[in-house]
Amino acid sequence: MQKLLVIVTILVLATPGCLDNLQEKLVSCENITGQCRYEILSANDYSKLHIEINYVTGNAPDSEALNLLKQRIQEVTDKTSISVSQSSFGSTDNSYTLEEILEIENNQRTQSKSGNKFVIHILYLNGEYEDNDQTLGLAYSGSSFALFKEKIEDSAFLLISSTDIEKSVIVHEFGHILGLVNNGYQSPHNHEDSQHPHHSDNDESVMYWAIESQDIGNQIDGEPPNNFDSDDLDDLRLMKEGKL
Ligand SMILES: [Zn+2]
Repeated sequence: MQKLLVIVTILVLATPGCLDNLQEKLVSCENITGQCRYEILSANDYSKLHIEINYVTGNAPDSEALNLLKQRIQEVTDKTSISVSQSSFGSTDNSYTLEEILEIENNQRTQSKSGNKFVIHILYLNGEYEDNDQTLGLAYSGSSFALFKEKIEDSAFLLISSTDIEKSVIVHEFGHILGLVNNGYQSPHNHEDSQHPHHSDNDESVMYWAIESQDIGNQIDGEPPNNFDSDDLDDLRLMKEGKL
């Protein structure tokens, strides 16, 4: 018994890095959507933000959508720099379960938060989300979300281009990893849609539920919103100040 204790002690002393990593992973905000809001909004722990994008060949992000995302990040966070990297990968699949999405991220993602840099990961997929084929985007962890590029292209209607929709969806999913609306915090404003949890009840907010649904054309008049409304912005400000 004593001998075993000695061996265990030596192992603990010999591998402090591994244990630290394991412990960090167990308590990491990255396991739960919305839980990294403070790390993303504030510059206290991470002053820089990097966006790593992996896209299925032929489904690259629209540069206007990426520029808008960077602009929104600049507007709502205290980050001093925002960088983007992207690379493509092949896929023979065209219908993805959440498990498959997690596996793809695991295989493709090369960067995680370290030092003074927080990393957000975005997957651009072809095909559809298997659990709900109306889905245009999906935030599924504390630092990552997926967009369904072909679904976004299919959703273009009348004078509203797929670029307009992609701009809205990418900001919407970013809003979800910030915890909007009421995901892990309670807003002082009454703006959560009771019919659609964690979404805004204002159809002029980018956090309106239909933004990430292929039904967007039937639910929204004109160009879809791609910015947060005053209640969203106030929630984000309070979060950044550590008050929510
Ligand atoms: Zn949503």
